[in-house]
Order: sequence, then C-alpha cells, then structure tokens
Amino acid sequence: MTTPLAKPIPIPDADSRPYWDGANQDRFMFQRCRACGAAQFYSRSLCSHCRASDLAWEQARGTGTVASFTVVNRPPLAAFAADTPYVIALVDLDEGIRFLCNVTGCPPQAVRIGLPVKVIFESRAGSDQKIPQVRPA
Ligand SMILES: [Zn+2]
Repeated sequence: MTTPLAKPIPIPDADSRPYWDGANQDRFMFQRCRACGAAQFYSRSLCSHCRASDLAWEQARGTGTVASFTVVNRPPLAAFAADTPYVIALVDLDEGIRFLCNVTGCPPQAVRIGLPVKVIFESRAGSDQKIPQVRPA
C-alpha cells in the first residue's frame, strides 16, 4: 500500500530482475546479445537488433553523458513536489546504451547536453529497491 507522498517503486519482472537486483548491489546491469554483440537497454527477452534470445548480462562502468534533459517544475505526483525543480535526462552510457533518470547532486541550471555524469543508486523511503540515477562526474 502506498501513500500519496510515497514515490513509486519499480516492480521487477522476469526480464528486468537482474537489472534491479544489480542496482541493489550498486551495479548498473544491461544486456548484450551473444549472437550479434549489440548492447541493449531496457532489458527484453529478445535482442532488439537481431531477435536472438541468447542474451548475457554485463555490468556498465557507470559513466556517460547527458544526451537530452528537461527541468520539472510541476511534479507529476505529490511525492515529487519537494524535489522541484529537478532534472529528468536521457543519459548515454559509455557502453552505447541510453537510459532515463534524474540528474542529482547539482542545481538544474548546471545540467547541459554533453555533461559527463556518473551513475549513483538512490534509496527510496519504504523500499529496499535502489533506483539508478546520475550525478555530474
Ligand atoms: Zn542480436
């Protein structure tokens, strides 16, 4: 049961369990296809490039750059009101995968496209599940 002031918590499924379990160990995990070598994120049961099902999990170094971002001033949920203004960004990790996250640890006006960032793992109240986010490197 969540309260209106609780931030949402991911619910891992069979495809995403290794990703979320990795986050709990401060590891950013992603899939690489053993057939064609492509890296992919988010996790799926098939390779998005060649449709092979032979996928392996790898740990990303956790470094990358901001590809795009927006500043949120009006929170989508009351639980995020205290965080505004905050940044939602598309981040390109060095392994060639892109993920959506918050940029933390700096004021929104310090964020720019191309900003080098490092993955961190946010703990949320009421849950043991950590959430991958980034901060300036
Ligand atoms: Zn493939």
